[in-house]
Amino acid sequence: TATRPETSVTRTTCGYCGVGCSLEAVTRDGALVAVLPDRRGPVNRGHACVKGRFAHGFLDSPDRLTQPLVRRGASLEPATWEEALDRAARGIQEALAAAGPQAVAAISSARATNEENYLLQKFLRVIGSNNIDNCSRLCHSPSASGLTASFGLPGGTDSFDDVEQADCFLVVGANPVEAHPVVGARLLQRVLRGARLVVADPRAVGLARNADVHLRPRPGTNVALFHGLAHTLLTESLTDPAFLRDRAAGLPELTALLTGYPPDIVAELTGVPAADLLAAARLYGQAQCPAIVYGLGVTEHLHGTDGVRALANLAILRGAVGTGRGYGVNPLRGQNNVQGASDMGALPDTLPGYGKVTDPDARARAEAVWGAPVPDRPGLRIPEMFAAARAGRLRALWVVGEDVCTTDPDSDKVAEALDACPLVVCSELFLSETARRADVVLPAAAWLEKNGTFVNFDRRFQRVRPALPPPGQARSDFDAIHALATRLGTGLGCPSPAAALAECARISPLFAGLSHHRLDREGAVPWPCPDPDQPGEAKLYTRRFATPDGRAHLSATPYLPPGEQPDDDYPLLLVTGRRWAHYNSGSMTRHSRNADLAPRDFLDLHPVDAARHGLRDGDLLGVASRHGRARLLARISEETTPGQAFCAFHFPSSGVNRLTSDHADTTTSCPEYKVTAIRLTRD
Ligand code: SF4
Repeated sequence: TATRPETSVTRTTCGYCGVGCSLEAVTRDGALVAVLPDRRGPVNRGHACVKGRFAHGFLDSPDRLTQPLVRRGASLEPATWEEALDRAARGIQEALAAAGPQAVAAISSARATNEENYLLQKFLRVIGSNNIDNCSRLCHSPSASGLTASFGLPGGTDSFDDVEQADCFLVVGANPVEAHPVVGARLLQRVLRGARLVVADPRAVGLARNADVHLRPRPGTNVALFHGLAHTLLTESLTDPAFLRDRAAGLPELTALLTGYPPDIVAELTGVPAADLLAAARLYGQAQCPAIVYGLGVTEHLHGTDGVRALANLAILRGAVGTGRGYGVNPLRGQNNVQGASDMGALPDTLPGYGKVTDPDARARAEAVWGAPVPDRPGLRIPEMFAAARAGRLRALWVVGEDVCTTDPDSDKVAEALDACPLVVCSELFLSETARRADVVLPAAAWLEKNGTFVNFDRRFQRVRPALPPPGQARSDFDAIHALATRLGTGLGCPSPAAALAECARISPLFAGLSHHRLDREGAVPWPCPDPDQPGEAKLYTRRFATPDGRAHLSATPYLPPGEQPDDDYPLLLVTGRRWAHYNSGSMTRHSRNADLAPRDFLDLHPVDAARHGLRDGDLLGVASRHGRARLLARISEETTPGQAFCAFHFPSSGVNRLTSDHADTTTSCPEYKVTAIRLTRD
């Protein structure tokens, strides 16, 4: 007799973008048959986008890595886990013996769970190295640094639930319709129900069609633009004097600085007409409940931290943060767990919960739990790791779930660094460009195969549960970190993801009230959550700001130009970003049916530039910058502005990041992906 198929539903959290949609993974007889949006999801409320809902074919792709590989001569060959771990452990021991803990580093990942990030940073620190960083270095590190300086904590200021109250959105340097579709749809709903909308973006991104005002600043001029908006708030008395008196600091310095940013000067600096600037400032300044939502168009600049702070100035001037009014200042996180990777201390200067490694009290809290000394000097940031490898100082690097050869800027130099490093271990789902250059490749579990938690863009911890086992010999990063640490004789404790989060909660007051048990019961809990009986703070700073003096700090930093400008040799400016069907280096979406929807990267060119170069849609062209070359297909599009080009970085074969520069945020080293001077060639 036929047996009924065994169907089960697993509630989990999307592993693509930072919105953190709750999903239900449906399996039948051990195979995934559907991923459905969960109506109970606190952010998505029964919605999901084309990535979370449909891009899961990668799980059983024939290209999936299912057993470890080790390098033998020029080739990577299949190996057992025993061989792979031996090779990795031997390389780390040789690095430690030759040059000490400073010669060992790891790059952790937003792809990984909180518990995996926690365990990896603990592993590095227990062997004596702070050389641990994560991919937020390349996207939102300026958010962490700017929001901390302005308000006290490195996260968005509000719960996304509060967008329902907002009556004016200022959306800056973000394309949520494509990159965070569920957020894009919620914002659009509010706008269609009457909220006003200002979009500031050089491109005509999806939301711009519905904007009251679309500001199109030249790439790299954000700080001038935000100062211009602030100038109007001040000169037209659109500020909140009581808030500025009682809860803010720095007004005299900012007022003095802003005298240099009247609309006509800002129009010259940014290319934004003065009338549009005034209209935008008035919409934001006259709203009862204004909201700022921003993305990587603010952070990925030479002065990204200054940009975040100048944007935060607007909310402070308006008294629209830490009060009942407004939806403060909220970054849209690109990757699913980019907030959590940093929360867990996968940063070279920061322990779990943001205690500094230079702070003896923070170190003592971790040391008491770990039973090992924590080094007191900040370790290497990702770009510094690559420089150290090229210089022969870094001798062992573990890259977990990041295709740095595709996603990091000036990628020919990244490849050089990996080639120069005596041991590169790469944990991956597929044989990525980075894995191809590794000495040891560890097959990893994907998000639908993992147990743990993620933190989404509005600081909510949510559970991640395995719907399927990993294929073949693939293992979770959690298991792989334990296995390699054990090989090196370094016990890490934390036998399970639940135990890892419980240990992290003991170190960090921000997360002290969190546990898997509680999240299983309650669904989602935001940090700060210092107590198991406390619901967590969805809206920050309602009593005081978390700065040492309890005040929000205005920033009076002048506008400085970007690292590159167009010139006769490189007359166009390239901006990079994401498109709707794909996700980052595309390793998951390219191995799903989404690849049929968008099979390649394109270089968007304005019709004026295309005509100047005699180009038509689909022409193959060479693109050169001062840093490298790439070959791309042209797409003629009025979404760009004359003199500017746009490309995503979803296909390693297009080599877009061979073009981008090593200019980086002067505070955090976040690369300036948004401003690269290029020229088009016919070769
Ligand atoms: Fe996943 Fe983001 Fe899409 Fe939600 S919006 S389903 S979190 S990719």
